[in-house]
Amino acid sequence: MNKNSSNIMALAPTTSNKRETVCIFGTGDFGRALGHKMIQSGYPVVFGSRSTQASNLIPKDAEVLSHAEAAQKATIIIIAIQREHYNFLTSLAEILHGKVLVDISNNLKLNQYPESNAEYLAQLVPGAKVVKAFNTVSAWALQSGTLDASRQVFVCGDDMEAKQMVMDIVRALGLTPLDQGSLLAAQEIENYPLQLFPMWKFPILLSLGLVAFFFFYCLIRDIIYPYVYENKDFSFFIAISIPNRICPILALILLALVYLPGVLAAIIQLYRGTKYRRFPDWLDKWMLCRKQLGLVALAFASLHVLFTLVIPIRSFVRWRISSQIVSQVLNNKTEPLNNTNAWLSDSYLALGILGFFLFVLLGITSLPSVSNNVNWREFRFVQSKLGYLTLILCTAHTMVYGGKWFLSPSSYRWYLPSAYMLSLIVPCAVLVVKFVLIFPCLDKPLTRIRQGWERNPQYSE
Ligand code: NAP
Repeated sequence: MNKNSSNIMALAPTTSNKRETVCIFGTGDFGRALGHKMIQSGYPVVFGSRSTQASNLIPKDAEVLSHAEAAQKATIIIIAIQREHYNFLTSLAEILHGKVLVDISNNLKLNQYPESNAEYLAQLVPGAKVVKAFNTVSAWALQSGTLDASRQVFVCGDDMEAKQMVMDIVRALGLTPLDQGSLLAAQEIENYPLQLFPMWKFPILLSLGLVAFFFFYCLIRDIIYPYVYENKDFSFFIAISIPNRICPILALILLALVYLPGVLAAIIQLYRGTKYRRFPDWLDKWMLCRKQLGLVALAFASLHVLFTLVIPIRSFVRWRISSQIVSQVLNNKTEPLNNTNAWLSDSYLALGILGFFLFVLLGITSLPSVSNNVNWREFRFVQSKLGYLTLILCTAHTMVYGGKWFLSPSSYRWYLPSAYMLSLIVPCAVLVVKFVLIFPCLDKPLTRIRQGWERNPQYSE
């Protein structure tokens, strides 16, 4: 009987056009924006406010009453008030008994209070059914209708029926409710809008650090050194040459750093002989941001492609080519085609093009819309097998770039090797260790460990 009536309730808003009155406490920015959206969606709205005077800002179809009067007109009451002002609700405890109170509040800092605002509200008005919702939607987005980026509304609460009622409202507003479980989830939901690209922090800080390091490294080798020893001013290298040196270096190092934690995890599991012991925290965090590391690497690789495309139109490059031609004309001597150089240059370009193509493919498959359409095995194939192939191609591209001068002592300036040589350290280390790990004597025990086998079982039968 109950089940049937709840079904009828859920269908009611769509079949008849009558919607239940919703009460909103607080006529601030969020209260007004939400009230406006609700009226548009066909809900009668009544505001509960400290002042019942009419105001131009309040949607004209809404009533403004005192808190007590407004609360009596609706089952669902949205508390659009800052947590610090919740105290007055205790005096309304009797009227609010049995009502659904929707907590939409946010805080200024992560974990600002020991308990979530929603749990605090539930403590203040124990007879009410508290549901957390709407806190991830901004008043501006509600008002302007630009909800594309924040269409998801996290909902949590201990009373299933109350939660369902709130989720129906969310749907009626054209938003997508995501049930996050009981009120215990409220703290996490409240922390969500305060996070600033949490998974991107490490990749971006690391990239900035590496960019700064390689910028000064190239500055010393490519600008200061020729100025000191040959009195040549190559300061214009700062605009294109140095960025086009830093971008591929960063792309390669960051791509290698995507695969390094997997290799370290394998070594740790082999050493411990079990997969049931937690990795160190830093390794866990590193593994979680591999996708972001890869996307930053792809951004640097794309910049490298763009910088490379403009090389032929650079004034310095055109001057160098024409002066070589002029010197051949003056000496009346045509340089013969150097086959080795031609091979090196073509191989270098081919490896770069193939590496970049696979790099883009990896980036595309990491997009949720694409990864949702492949199964786990396909995803692993692309991200792992094609990923390693990309790393091999890009590493080879960098090695061939060095050509005949690769590892040659003459390319050292002030004992500093070329920057691209430094960029090869991490990828080569990853590839060598990965190569060692695929030997059957290591691969077999590792596969068994990953299937649950333990060298020294913790719980013997
Ligand atoms: P606001 O503009 O400062 O409005 C808060 C309202 O609370 C006031 O207009 C007032 O309404 C009422 N109020 C203030 N002091 C009070 C007191 N001592 N006792 C009782 N009522 C009091 O804030 P808001 O931006 O609308 O935010 C309201 C809540 O929504 C906050 O918890 C916030 O975290 C949350 N939120 C806001 C946004 C947003 O984009 N703004 C987004 C998500 C969540 P009356 O004058 O009508 O009494």
